[in-house]
Amino acid sequence: LASRDFHPADTIIDIKGVRIGGDNLVIMGGPCAVESPAQSDEIARLVKAAGGQVLRGGAFKPRTGPYSFQGVGVEGLQMMREAGEKHGLLTITEVMTPEYVDICAEHADILQVGTRNMQNFDLLRKLGTIQTPVLLKRGFSSTYDEFLNAAEYILAGGNPNVMLCERGIRTFETYTRNTLDLSAIPVLQGLSHLPVISDPSHGTGRRELVEPMAKASVAAGANGLIIEMHTDPDNSMTGDGVQSLFPDQFAGLLKDLERLAPIV
Ligand code: PEP
Ligand code: MN
Repeated sequence: LASRDFHPADTIIDIKGVRIGGDNLVIMGGPCAVESPAQSDEIARLVKAAGGQVLRGGAFKPRTGPYSFQGVGVEGLQMMREAGEKHGLLTITEVMTPEYVDICAEHADILQVGTRNMQNFDLLRKLGTIQTPVLLKRGFSSTYDEFLNAAEYILAGGNPNVMLCERGIRTFETYTRNTLDLSAIPVLQGLSHLPVISDPSHGTGRRELVEPMAKASVAAGANGLIIEMHTDPDNSMTGDGVQSLFPDQFAGLLKDLERLAPIV
């Protein structure tokens, strides 16, 4: 079902009038983690003012270590929802277990499956039973074939609203957190009709690389970007402050992108 042979035309996912796929470029921005109502409100305002369409933020965080901040939980879903509604943005948040799919889908417009859960097949099966759009992140050691098979689990269950997200893979290089695989964008678009979103934030792990790799992703044909942005990155509650853009950098990037592709 994920293959272009089966479905030659680009899939376009229409969420409350925001069209993802085809010639459209969707911009998702926001913090790694939802922290407070005031933070959600302020960042939503900035994402909207910059021209973005989707507010990102994790209420449940898949942390590498068990003692790290794990997210604010269900309350975070409410904070994001309120901020999104107030500022006219869609919202995307990560869901980690099948049990939380329904509550996350009640609050968010798009559900994110993180890199660590790309092959959490119980989660993928559960996501196949609903119609809420899913942004499926590529596992950091997964091949394109494994990635597309993970998407297939969701599609096979009956949910056609899947977008693929390249977020960097593990290589021998340690200067960057991951190596953003730009080739994945045209390769996946050739093999599949599903929209392909690029995440230059996790794909590099370094703030100064987000802008060039965001532009490179759009030049390579990405259907959208998901970018971490924070009003006070140095004091963010996850370690991802180092890769988060300052609000003015985020706005400047979107301005530059307008010249590469219309943001609609
Ligand atoms: C995130 O988006 O904050 C995140 C945890 O992403 P990934 O699953 O790609 O590491
Ligand atoms: Mn993050």
